[in-house]
Amino acid sequence: MILLTGGLGYIGSHTAVELAEAGYDVVIIDNLSNSKIDVVDKLEQIIGSPVKFYKGDCQDEELLRRIFMENDITAVMHFAGYKAVGESVEKPIEYYDNNINATLALLKVMKEFGVKNFVFSSSATVYGRAKSMPIYEDFEVSAANPYGRTKLFIEEILKDVQHADNSLNIAILRYFNPIGAHKSGLIGEDPNGIPNNLMPYITKVATGKLDHLNIFGNDYDTKDGTGVRDYIHVCDLALGHVKALKKLETAPGLVIYNLGTGTGYSVLEIVNTFNEVCGNLVKYEFAPRRAGDIDVCYASPEKAEKELGFKAQHTLKDMCESSYKFEKNNLK
Ligand code: NAD
Ligand code: UDP
Repeated sequence: MILLTGGLGYIGSHTAVELAEAGYDVVIIDNLSNSKIDVVDKLEQIIGSPVKFYKGDCQDEELLRRIFMENDITAVMHFAGYKAVGESVEKPIEYYDNNINATLALLKVMKEFGVKNFVFSSSATVYGRAKSMPIYEDFEVSAANPYGRTKLFIEEILKDVQHADNSLNIAILRYFNPIGAHKSGLIGEDPNGIPNNLMPYITKVATGKLDHLNIFGNDYDTKDGTGVRDYIHVCDLALGHVKALKKLETAPGLVIYNLGTGTGYSVLEIVNTFNEVCGNLVKYEFAPRRAGDIDVCYASPEKAEKELGFKAQHTLKDMCESSYKFEKNNLK
């Protein structure tokens, strides 16, 4: 049984599906701070069998003990955490508290129950302004905001914990830009309020909930002046977790992988592809650069390909189509 913390959220829910397809049983804990309970039904529809869910907080050690007691957990995938960069600048205490203390509580209870395998959701944000592209896993790390610092600190904590007990197997997965949704259109990215990220903003413009997209900056040193990122389909990202879990089952100690495609797309390329899919519904205007943004960011996917056998398969069109389908299914 694999415990998914934050398993009703965007990436966790898609990973639950991939794990089930690979034959693993999953159990989810989520406090619903950024997700909705109906994701459980949607997961059951996709997977075709009941999904075990505990509503609660990962900082609640008593609840964690109960979950470990009631289920034969062999690995933990830790998605739970707050993730909004801007909000983390406003509310650093909440971010450090939730992200770091939830991780510590989990590690403590895993130790009590002798659970050895742990997968952590890190982020490309830990590379800060990388010296060159593509980004390799051994590049220097730094953080520009409290959210990024929680990821960096947790990575350091995990290294210390694994150093103290080398029977632990830990995979730190540094995600690039996940977009897209499950092909059923039942689960996807469903942020509260006005989205900060590009794709959820685009889908809300396409469905008429927002008037137009502001493209932040058209004077970057890139192919068309707009920012370039490594967008990866969330189902590919989810599959990366299954591959990482299989790696942990070979007892490798602590491993770090980028999960990206290795291809950078500009904001304009994303908007143009999306417009092909939806019939030109996305109007945009150029706006000033967003504070803190970098011009280009894309992964070297080589290490994950070589050591995990992981390679992203979906195209940009798949990513746009599935994001649009989910948004249309979830008009509210
Ligand atoms: P999400 O907000 O959709 O999912 C996180 C889930 O965790 C939510 O369902 C939320 O209710 C739950 N949660 C938060 N704190 C909790 C707690 N203390 N106890 C129990 N549940 C809690 O986010 P996501 O996009 O699925 O991201 C998952 C992880 O991946 C996060 O750690 C995030 O920082 C990381 N990540 C995300 C991205 C991205 O672009 N989405 C990129 C890099 C890294
Ligand atoms: N972006 C944009 N308009 C928006 C949201 C994002 O032009 O409303 C751009 C942003 O400047 C960056 C890219 O889209 O170049 C991806 O931004 P996102 O916030 O999705 O991810 P990030 O890489 O910043 O974490």
